[in-house]
Amino acid sequence: MIRLAIQSKGRLNEDSTALLREIGIDIDDSRRKFLSQAPNFPLELLYMRDDDIPGVVSSGTAALGIVGLNEVEEHGLPVQIVKKLGFGACRISLAVPKTVDYTGPKWFAGKRIATSYPRILKKWLDEQGIEARIEVITGSVEIAPAADIADAIFDIVSSGGTLVSNGLVEVEKVFWSEAVLISSGDLTPDQQEILDEMLFRIDSAMVSRRKKYILMNLPQASVEEATRILPAMRSPTVMPLAAEGWCSMHSVVDEDDLWDKIKQLKAIGAEGILVLNIDKLIP
Ligand code: ATP
Ligand code: MG
Repeated sequence: MIRLAIQSKGRLNEDSTALLREIGIDIDDSRRKFLSQAPNFPLELLYMRDDDIPGVVSSGTAALGIVGLNEVEEHGLPVQIVKKLGFGACRISLAVPKTVDYTGPKWFAGKRIATSYPRILKKWLDEQGIEARIEVITGSVEIAPAADIADAIFDIVSSGGTLVSNGLVEVEKVFWSEAVLISSGDLTPDQQEILDEMLFRIDSAMVSRRKKYILMNLPQASVEEATRILPAMRSPTVMPLAAEGWCSMHSVVDEDDLWDKIKQLKAIGAEGILVLNIDKLIP
């Protein structure tokens, strides 16, 4: 059995539970308690506020956790980052009122900066050799300049919409974050085996997210050229069609390359191209 701490509600909760479901671990959200056990996998879920996750993992209360890298960095506790999970992307930035004539990092010298991330901010200020006053606020940091609690803010930005609606401009991007799987680094052999199985499944799920299955009808004469365009995992599957001189080719492509590949395939005579989502891909 292994215990995994995830956010009980908030921005990471849904993606965390969706990832677990994607790797075949059932979660009963309707009966969500503080602790719940997956019926089909040796995993116990501990639901908590994201601020508490680095702490419960570093103390070993939960062997694993899913949390933003920003929280891990801010708490500065000894946990291992096992895997970046590709969701919950955001950055922590310095922003100033749009009326300010911002000249560069030195502008912050002697200023008051409101933030919920004092440790990450202090590290950046030290690196820049700047002394400023850090005002720790746990919520609604973006209203601090208008309320004259601070001259600037250091806060999470994803689209930037909140800044704009509060008359602020992002001037320094300091820290990039995404959700990560963390571990106490102190697992029993049994727990390590469970973690390895989870990682194997997570890798398969993450790889398949960026891949598409593609199949098409192709003139027999174009097979060699098409194999060059679609290298596939080993090599593409080619099957004969009833129509003389034609075959059906199946392969897997990166979503990023999809339209470019389709253009090349059409140019060599491919027809009836079908593109399908892949549920799981085991390399
Ligand atoms: P909790 O009640 O669990 O303490 P919270 O209010 O501290 O929740 P959320 O707003 O739910 O936290 O955000 C959780 C995490 O989501 C952040 O720490 C960050 O890693 C990530 N995140 C991604 N985009 C954003 C965003 N636009 N604003 C805030 N957090 C974001
Ligand atoms: Mg929090």
